Amino acid sequence: MKKIVIGNWKLNLDHLEAIQLLQKLNYTIEENKEEKIDIVVSPSHTSLRSIQTIIDTDKLNIKLSAQDVSQFNEGAYTGEVSSQQLSKLNVKYCIVGHSERRTEFVESDETINKKIHNLIDKDITPVICFGETLEQRNSNKYLEHITSQINSAVKGLRKDKVDNLVFAYEPIWAIGTGEVASIIDAVEVISMVKENVSEKAFYNNEKIRFIYGGSVTPDNSEEILNSEIIDGALVGGASLNVDKFVTIINSINL
Ligand code: PEP
Repeated sequence: MKKIVIGNWKLNLDHLEAIQLLQKLNYTIEENKEEKIDIVVSPSHTSLRSIQTIIDTDKLNIKLSAQDVSQFNEGAYTGEVSSQQLSKLNVKYCIVGHSERRTEFVESDETINKKIHNLIDKDITPVICFGETLEQRNSNKYLEHITSQINSAVKGLRKDKVDNLVFAYEPIWAIGTGEVASIIDAVEVISMVKENVSEKAFYNNEKIRFIYGGSVTPDNSEEILNSEIIDGALVGGASLNVDKFVTIINSINL
């Protein structure tokens, strides 16, 4: 399985700063690295057009992701951006259900499921985030919680319409905190989710990737990214620093 490393730039960088980061990233990545690893950047919506123009014009092998999409397709939904609009910008991936959106913007499992359907309809690969709070982990309810998040996320997806999916296990207590789930914790959850998802057999097993996110840095990326069970990483803070992000990418033994 080809590994994938996604840089989630969150609410940082104006479009000029985003262009600079992309260009620095492009000349820092070792040549031909992208043949073996999918390298993806996820800027704010305001930078998507500029980044897409550079990727397309200069034929960069870096792929473009959005950080969110609307649950609606068009109409009177002020402030929203549709999967159709993203697809016109050649957006290949879109993060959905990030814990920051679930918490700060009170996104429900139902809303997240609608967003996933909209993305798949436009051939954009959803990066479906899921994970537990520290409280849920400590009360040993986390596997139950995660199973319910996954089941809601994939509700109604038809095998013949799903080519690609990425599931990102992001324990909430590990996002932006410096705390990292132990490799044992990450492997336990990802293995359980893989089994659960494959029991449903609604997709092409070969093409689904299960990645980890939560304080991934050059100090811990080697162990995470070389696990046979983990197909890549969703990197927040460290992706804003090109040297750190490229060190994370390079820690994959090819
Ligand atoms: C994230 O935003 O998805 C994330 C994992 O952030 P960080 O790497 O900063 O913990």
